Amino acid sequence: MIKRFIRRVLGLSANHVERVPRQRHGLARDALSPAAAKVCAVLREAGFASYVVGGAVRDLLLGIVPTDFDIATDARPEQVKPLFRRALIIGRRFRLVHVMMGPETVEVSTFRAADPDTAEKDEHGRVLRDNVFGTQAEDARRRDFTVNALYFDPATEEVVDFHGGLADLKKRVLRVIGEPVTRYREDPIRMLRGVRLSAKLGLRLDAATREPIRELAPLMERVPPARLFDEMLKLLLSGHASACLRQLREVGLHKGLLPLLDVILEQPLGERFVTLALAQTDERVLAERPVSPAFLFAALLWHEVLAAWRGREARGERSIPALENAMDEVLDTQCAKLAITRKLTATMREVWGMQPRFELRSGQRPYRLVEAPRFRMAYDFLALRAASGEVPAEFEAWWRAFQAADADTRKAMLLPETGPRKRRRRRRKKRPAAPTPAPA
Ligand code: ATP
Ligand code: MG
Repeated sequence: MIKRFIRRVLGLSANHVERVPRQRHGLARDALSPAAAKVCAVLREAGFASYVVGGAVRDLLLGIVPTDFDIATDARPEQVKPLFRRALIIGRRFRLVHVMMGPETVEVSTFRAADPDTAEKDEHGRVLRDNVFGTQAEDARRRDFTVNALYFDPATEEVVDFHGGLADLKKRVLRVIGEPVTRYREDPIRMLRGVRLSAKLGLRLDAATREPIRELAPLMERVPPARLFDEMLKLLLSGHASACLRQLREVGLHKGLLPLLDVILEQPLGERFVTLALAQTDERVLAERPVSPAFLFAALLWHEVLAAWRGREARGERSIPALENAMDEVLDTQCAKLAITRKLTATMREVWGMQPRFELRSGQRPYRLVEAPRFRMAYDFLALRAASGEVPAEFEAWWRAFQAADADTRKAMLLPETGPRKRRRRRRKKRPAAPTPAPA
């Protein structure tokens, strides 16, 4: 407390603040979404300060359409809520208000302080609690990058800039506010955000911001899995996943971030598969077509599953149980690190589990397969496997044709039932208990 007081008196807690007029930054109030503009106006009429802040200001200044609008205010959540017809106070650790207006939801948060001297930290310097209200200067100081700490005042059309964010935007540089090592220790996810934002926005990571990442990468292990998952999902669905992954490798953050990335990016076929999956995802995102996170994670982990599966088969496990066990094994490892939700893993299993069924192209099996609920996703997955050279292209072409064909053509396409397969099935019936597999 005393330290904080002294720093405040000496003017050390905030940089020199600049209020930059519209003619110098070019951002006009009519660029805001209707809900964001309205929320700011209502707060101001009630006598509170209100600004658009964070990603929305940054994106607008770069000429990018923001994904959402965040508002910062000096009003407390319980003062904000009654001003709006549809508003909810959310969050336990730090309460903020969601204001719903038409199709939009605007997030309104009260200026927050995160004083590095008083915040509760773990032994690695990670901030555990930072839930105190503060001044606007303190609110700016706790944000991650200078370009993320710009406040736009719709009333005056001024940008309030505490940390030189406008100059950095102009230079197209992403720079951590304060001392990078300390800020990464407080919250290691900032390293991942830095990579994602620099790839998404085409900003260069400032040298001091980039350099410590390699060494501090192991801190990612201490990030709660659910947060890591959210941030990874944002990265993968940003429309710039390929660029992000390249950047992750360049700065040395891919090691240990996701066990899958370590291994897969080192195998030629795996890398090709992942690269294709990401490129396809980026294309879909940029074309505003829907992307399934389950499909994407299934793709990212496929070569892990494949390796485990082949290994088990080589040790004498039967193919299908070997695949089931390989899926379990891989999901167990990955989920410990990354809180992939159950709903997601269920779909991933379906997509993986259907892959061997594509090999069976005789009798009734193809008809059953095309009717299966996840057929389309599983087929797209097969197409990716073909494109990466893992399975013959002819294979994928057959299934593409089979889906589209009429009844007669389908019948003509079926392969003859093969003798040896039947014999194997009879043998299995006689001896249902498979030899126990060697331990992994
Ligand atoms: P996006 O375009 O992906 O939404 P964003 O910067 O808006 O990017 P959000 O997660 O929406 O990302 O965060 C909103 C703002 O909150 C950021 O601009 C930044 O000011 C602040 N912020 C978010 N995460 C952190 C963090 N880990 N540490 C410090 N500040 C953060
Ligand atoms: Mg945002």
